[in-house]
Amino acid sequence: MPSDSKAAGAKPLAGTRILIGNDDGIHAPGLKALEEVAHALSDDVWTVAPEVEQSATSHSLTTRRPLRLRRFGERRFAVDGTPTDCVVVGVNHVLKDRRPDLVLSGFNHGGNLGEDVGYSGTVAVAMEAALFGIPAIAMSQQREQEKPVDFAPAKAFAGGIVRQLFQSDWPRDLLVNVNFPPLDPDQVKGVRVGRTGRRDTQIGVVEGSDPAGRPYLWIGDFLRHHSDDEDSDLGLVARGYVSVTPLHLDLTHHAGLERLKGLLE
Ligand code: MN
Repeated sequence: MPSDSKAAGAKPLAGTRILIGNDDGIHAPGLKALEEVAHALSDDVWTVAPEVEQSATSHSLTTRRPLRLRRFGERRFAVDGTPTDCVVVGVNHVLKDRRPDLVLSGFNHGGNLGEDVGYSGTVAVAMEAALFGIPAIAMSQQREQEKPVDFAPAKAFAGGIVRQLFQSDWPRDLLVNVNFPPLDPDQVKGVRVGRTGRRDTQIGVVEGSDPAGRPYLWIGDFLRHHSDDEDSDLGLVARGYVSVTPLHLDLTHHAGLERLKGLLE
């Protein structure tokens, strides 16, 4: 930690402009918890979040209708769009005088582990920031089944992780996905870096009928993890660690590149 951060009242990332987003919406308790963490790091903290929940909207962008920006505080705004819309509006409009130095997303209500990463609006906030060339960290608080989310582990560990990552050399295009286990902070085993995992069961559909007797299908039989892949984000959080996974936006399968060249060229 730099010595200036030990001075009374000094914030570790003083002067750093932080933009916060999420996919659970402007009123989400997880957003407020992340705002508290960010305010302990810097005085230049801004929030642009969806007006209503946008979980599992992934990296979608609204292009066929106008967006409305509503102000909820001096540095708090909501957009009636997706998490990605919020980053675009935040960077290009709300903070057009000076871009953010760092984008934080979360704290999501529930983990974003394994296959979740592809559906997550929380992770998409960080993806969009990476497209702008801005360092970004997505953070999610894993929940116990059927219990309300307790953000105590996220609040205990996020500030230190954000500071350490931001003050390191940040490779262009890197975004970071962080998940906190659902434990008392003093029960958390530590911080581990791991790859994105893969669950050993598939997502399912629940069949039912509405009050008029018409059948519906509801995607609601969510993925469960049973494998013992200890080094993935899934395995690390299941074993009580905070998991940290570096991601990038290049989806190219590099081994496949050579295979397809040999096949088609
Ligand atoms: Mn969410």
